[in-house]
Amino acid sequence: MRAAVAGLPGQVQIVEFPEPKLAPGELILAPLACGICSTDVKLVQRGAEEANYALGHELAGRVVAASQESRWSVGQRVVAVPYLPCGECFYCRHAQPTLCGRLFDTAFLPGALAEEIWVPSRISECGLFSIPDDLPDEIAALAEPVGCVVKGIQDANLQPGDTVLVVGDGPMGLFCATVARAYGAARVLVAGLTPSRLACAGEYYADQIIDLNQEELVGTVQDATEGRGADVVMVAVSDGEALLNGIKAVRPGGTVNAFAGVSNGVQIPLDVRKLHYQQFFLTGSFGLGPEHMAKALQLLGSGRIDVAPLITARFPFESVAEAVAYAADRTGLKPVVIF
Ligand SMILES: [Zn+2]
Ligand SMILES: [Zn+2]
Repeated sequence: MRAAVAGLPGQVQIVEFPEPKLAPGELILAPLACGICSTDVKLVQRGAEEANYALGHELAGRVVAASQESRWSVGQRVVAVPYLPCGECFYCRHAQPTLCGRLFDTAFLPGALAEEIWVPSRISECGLFSIPDDLPDEIAALAEPVGCVVKGIQDANLQPGDTVLVVGDGPMGLFCATVARAYGAARVLVAGLTPSRLACAGEYYADQIIDLNQEELVGTVQDATEGRGADVVMVAVSDGEALLNGIKAVRPGGTVNAFAGVSNGVQIPLDVRKLHYQQFFLTGSFGLGPEHMAKALQLLGSGRIDVAPLITARFPFESVAEAVAYAADRTGLKPVVIF
């Protein structure tokens, strides 16, 4: 069976992998749809010497083989967490599953962009969720990134009635905007630099867009909040400067979440006096656990969030390279590979 892998830096290759084999409790999925995100872009740009893993982790699939011990049956449509914490270590016992040192030890393989995907028994037991009948494959595939956002919004301690500022107009930023609304945000501001993305934000997700080509972030947020600043700031841009601006735009006692991953070594000068007297919270969020994916699927399935406008390009499996290039280009929003 074929899988899309990172090859030489900047290249995607489609290569042959051995057929997965089934042991007790395990499953085989055929992918239906897979979202492409900046993690895939990063893996492709970095390149891989050996093609051990397929790209893709935002998966909706169909069960095509299930061992007798499994509670799933052939034909069911499911989403799956791409990795599963061990459930036993210090961090797992302290309800901080994405700090688990063995987070990636239990994963579906070789990845979502493969014609067949092996699901280990632990994921089949507690990391798989049935897709509601009327939810399209391509929307269900986004339960993974939306689940990461659910975790991020929970980590930011968003309260009903809050004013939320999202710094960043990419797919994750706009997921943050819609999930914030579902968690009770009274007002959502989205700041960014890309006119086409800001237009989508303004049409579907934000009460106010802040075009950083023309407007200054902190003053605009203050004007919108009686001078206080935002209650919650989600920084969904891989950039230290964006985080620094997010910190300047938060109200005293509010929370800033460094939600986007950044490269090694990115540092910011932190005004420690302000941190002390204004008592704001600075946190980060990474990844998701099964409970976050379950919540994401519930939000998607109930229609409480609508992410359909974010899917701006669809590609066949043979064109994964184009899908990754589309995500890297950052003018559209979410590309999805449809099988
Ligand atoms: Zn992703
Ligand atoms: Zn653990």
